[in-house]
Amino acid sequence: MRKALIAANWKCHGSLKMVDEFANALSHEPGVDVVVFPPAVFLAQYASRASHKADCGAQDIGTAETGARAGEVAGEMVSEVGGKWVILGHSERRSEQQESDALIAEKLAAALRAELRPILCVGETQQQREAGQAMVVVERQLQSALEQAAGSQLATGAIAYEPVWAIGTGLTATPQQAQEMHQGIRSWLYRKGDQTAQSVRIIYGGSVKAENAAALFQQPDIDGALVGGASLQLDTFTRIIGAAG
Ligand code: PEP
Repeated sequence: MRKALIAANWKCHGSLKMVDEFANALSHEPGVDVVVFPPAVFLAQYASRASHKADCGAQDIGTAETGARAGEVAGEMVSEVGGKWVILGHSERRSEQQESDALIAEKLAAALRAELRPILCVGETQQQREAGQAMVVVERQLQSALEQAAGSQLATGAIAYEPVWAIGTGLTATPQQAQEMHQGIRSWLYRKGDQTAQSVRIIYGGSVKAENAAALFQQPDIDGALVGGASLQLDTFTRIIGAAG
C-alpha cells in the first residue's frame, strides 16, 4: 500500500506571511505525506516554523556541491536549513531554462548525494501527445534520469507525471488519461527490472484542484499530486490533502 503524497509547488509566489500561515497550519495527515516547496529564499524560514509538521523542499538545485557558482543553490544547503525534498525536471525549467535530460540526471545524482528526496517530473507536450508520442517521451525522460540513479533511490521520493499541456492551463488530464500514463510508467519500471516498481509513488500534476482531486486519487496508480496554482490558497490546498486521506 503506497502512502499518498501531496506536494505544493509555489513556484515564484509567496511571502514571509504566507510561509507562516502555511507552516503553522499544515501537517502530515493520516495516510498522507504533505510537502511544501516555497521559493528557495523562504525555505529556511518554512523549515524552522514547520518543524515536526509538514516537510518542505527546494524547487530546484544545482548539479554540484558548494563552490564558485554564482546564483546556484547546492543540495547540501537545502538539507542544512531543513529541506528534505527537491523537485527536479519541472517542465518550466525544461522549457524556460533549457534544462536537458542529461542535466536533470546530474541534478538527480546531486540530490541523492545530499540525501534529498527527489520528485522527478516527466511529461509530454500537447504536440507530442497528438503525435502519439506521450509514453515514448516519458520513457526517454525516465531512462535518462535513471542512468544516474538506481530506481530504488528514486523510490525515496516520487515520480511526478505532469503533462505539459495541463500545467497552469486549467486543462486537466482525465483520470483515465492520467491512470494510463501512470500505469505505463510503473510497467516501464517493471520491465527495467526495478524492484521498487510497486512501491514507488507516482503523483499527478496539471491543474489539480479541490474539485477534481478525488476522482484522480481514486485511480489505482495515482498516488497523490504535485499542485501548482491551487496550492497557493490554504483552504483549497487543505481540501486537496483531504481528498487524498
Ligand atoms: C506544477 O507547477 O507542477 C503544476 C502542476 O501547476 P498547476 O497545478 O498550476 O497546473
